[in-house]
Amino acid sequence: MTEKVMIVKYGEIAMRLKNRQQFIVQLISAMRKNLDTVGKYYIEQEMGCLIVEDRGGEMDYDLVLEKIGTVFGIFSMAPGVKVTDQNLENLQKEALALMQHLYGDQSLSFKVVTKRSNKNYPMSSMEVSAEVGGYILEHMPNLRVDVHHPDVELKLELRHFAYLSAKVIYGLGGLPGGSSGKGLSLLSGGIDSPVATWMMAKRGVEVEGVYFHSPPYTSEWAKEKVIDLAREIAKYTGRFRLHIVPFTQLQLYLLENVPHDRLTIHLKRAMYRAAQMIAEEEKALALITGESIGQVSSQTMWGINAINDAIRMPVLRPLCGMDKKEIIAMAEKIGTYEISIRPYEDCCTIFVAKHPVTKPRTEYIRKGEHKLTELTDLITRSVAEQEIIEL
Ligand code: ATP
Ligand code: MG
Repeated sequence: MTEKVMIVKYGEIAMRLKNRQQFIVQLISAMRKNLDTVGKYYIEQEMGCLIVEDRGGEMDYDLVLEKIGTVFGIFSMAPGVKVTDQNLENLQKEALALMQHLYGDQSLSFKVVTKRSNKNYPMSSMEVSAEVGGYILEHMPNLRVDVHHPDVELKLELRHFAYLSAKVIYGLGGLPGGSSGKGLSLLSGGIDSPVATWMMAKRGVEVEGVYFHSPPYTSEWAKEKVIDLAREIAKYTGRFRLHIVPFTQLQLYLLENVPHDRLTIHLKRAMYRAAQMIAEEEKALALITGESIGQVSSQTMWGINAINDAIRMPVLRPLCGMDKKEIIAMAEKIGTYEISIRPYEDCCTIFVAKHPVTKPRTEYIRKGEHKLTELTDLITRSVAEQEIIEL
């Protein structure tokens, strides 16, 4: 019997021996979540890889690739076939069928690589490769053999069953979701924070988002934009919990009570504090932001010090060493860029200082904040009034 399958290799997790099995379970569960929406699939754990089988009929390779291509932790995916009858003639026939299906009459070089974990197999790997390669050459005159730099590598893995594949699609890499604990991402409608969120999710962090919304200074469109961005991230993470925190009163209070050139710093401190409260409730271990060193005045080393001082929780800033150009390229790649550039301001101009301080002194900011007697109360109230959306 021959059946179409997808052979999935996991890269990095294979090396982390201690929690290896747990990672594999998390990876299978993430793959299953995506596949369950489109059919009946079975995922089998084989030595060093996972085999996806379609229990609903013949596998649609493209559909499976689309569904698991967004799963973190996958190194590569190979559309292939599982063959139960491993005698040489049958392997030759199946290998030829696969090559014809994938490459038709394209003019290409190839080689056959055989791995024989089934040590009872009556021929050596070299012999199998030569016999199968010769047979394919005979039937496909458009192909030629190149053992050093072939365009196509036909892989034959002889295990309990035989697995044949002749094409590799690389996955996103990273680690499966949830394998690194939870983080709360400060998600604005801009270009940067969705990329930062994605990058931490790629490292296995289970991400949730918090958006500080200040109607009417920030419009409903701005909120919709953040929800759409969260939905885009959910395509990779399976789901996404978004906390929307009303911040208008707090912002107006700061506008009246702090010097204009330090408004942004105080506002960011308030955001961090509110985010920390939510993170603690949600058992998240760190905050995540889209800050990049030097990008704007509040993101200088001095600015980051003065803001970070407001909380005790670690803040992950995966974009801190990246240029805007690199961040944009990444936003395009992951599919958030078009949403981020929708022309709705994420901050009203009355809250933006013409000449913000670029080297705020933490002590000074802290003292200033001390005088803001209503601040803590306003932060607590904002958090209490949050709206939660599950995507
Ligand atoms: P982005 O492109 O992510 O909006 P930015 O370059 O506009 O970032 P800032 O406005 O200085 O930079 O914000 C720095 C970080 O603070 C953002 O990346 C985001 O993580 C967080 N942040 C800013 N505004 C908000 C908001 N309204 N709600 C939630 N987080 C925010
Ligand atoms: Mg922004």
